[in-house]
Amino acid sequence: DAKKSARGSVRVFDESMDGAIRFRRAIEGGLSNAIEAGELRLVYQPIVSHDTLEVVAFEALMRWDSAEYGSISPAMFIPIAEESNLIHDLGDWVLGEALTMLERWPGQYVSVNFSPRQFRRPNFVGHVVERVDRAGIAPSRLQIEITETAIFDDAERAADTLYRVRQMGFRIALDDFGTGYSSLYNIRKFALDCLKIDKSFIDGMGRERESAAIVQSIIHLGRALGLEVVAEGVETEAQVQALRIAGCSHLQGFHLSRPIEAARATELAEARFIEASAMIAEGARGS
Ligand code: C2E
Ligand code: MG
Ligand code: MG
Ligand code: MG
Repeated sequence: DAKKSARGSVRVFDESMDGAIRFRRAIEGGLSNAIEAGELRLVYQPIVSHDTLEVVAFEALMRWDSAEYGSISPAMFIPIAEESNLIHDLGDWVLGEALTMLERWPGQYVSVNFSPRQFRRPNFVGHVVERVDRAGIAPSRLQIEITETAIFDDAERAADTLYRVRQMGFRIALDDFGTGYSSLYNIRKFALDCLKIDKSFIDGMGRERESAAIVQSIIHLGRALGLEVVAEGVETEAQVQALRIAGCSHLQGFHLSRPIEAARATELAEARFIEASAMIAEGARGS
């Protein structure tokens, strides 16, 4: 079966010194056909307001079910695509799919991950504007998620790009916030709408004073600057309660909902709220 062949291929590739390179090439080859082969899909993870559990947005997350290698995590294939030009085709595909969903959802926005290379592409903003215009979508319904890595290398240019992104009316979120370089510099320098607190801090909250203090500080800072603050990777009710006390405005994580298929996302978008009882069931389910 697919899983077995995926494992088998990893073992074969690892037998020689250049195993890693050959594995990368194989993944690259598979990825370059994945769009045409219909092996890619998006799943959607709700972003929920803390006070009412209203679903305000969905984050689009890529899935690749390869005929040859089985299901491969984006954590594995995105970095490989990022090192080649493939990331641009994949990114265009993701954006097209995500924009299509917006037509079906009553008011939510979609949050799309852009890798550093996409963000630094010449005419990045013009390209996104054209796609959104063509789809007839209000720019405020697209949130562009970038990590601090995307803006670290060339802060001047990044500031300029982000300024234009904002000017066009798109939302900007800083993903995995707190794990990158010079986090505080970044939020002073750049026009942002949203900070996503990295899961590692949320995980640590109940265990270490340090994580709890960092989460609290990020929330204070975000609020003082008028930013939306999303806690990522919320897995327990205890975290939900701690984040309520800390004043966190938005939640995302398996405890609220796992990433779900397009049809279910549309149902949830129409229902608008995650019910507290459903929330527990969703969190407990292992999909
Ligand atoms: P990310 O953007 O930080 O997305 C959050 C990741 O955490 C997702 O993994 C999501 O499924 C997972 N997650 C959410 N809640 C929980 C939780 O409560 N517990 C745990 N353990 N995990 C949770 P996923 O889908 O495997 O994506 C991994 C990374 O791949 C993403 O991290 C993002 O950096 C990248 N990625 C995914 N889709 C795309 C895409 O379309 N374009 C680009 N450029 N990158 C993408
Ligand atoms: Mg993200
Ligand atoms: Mg993240
Ligand atoms: Mg991440």
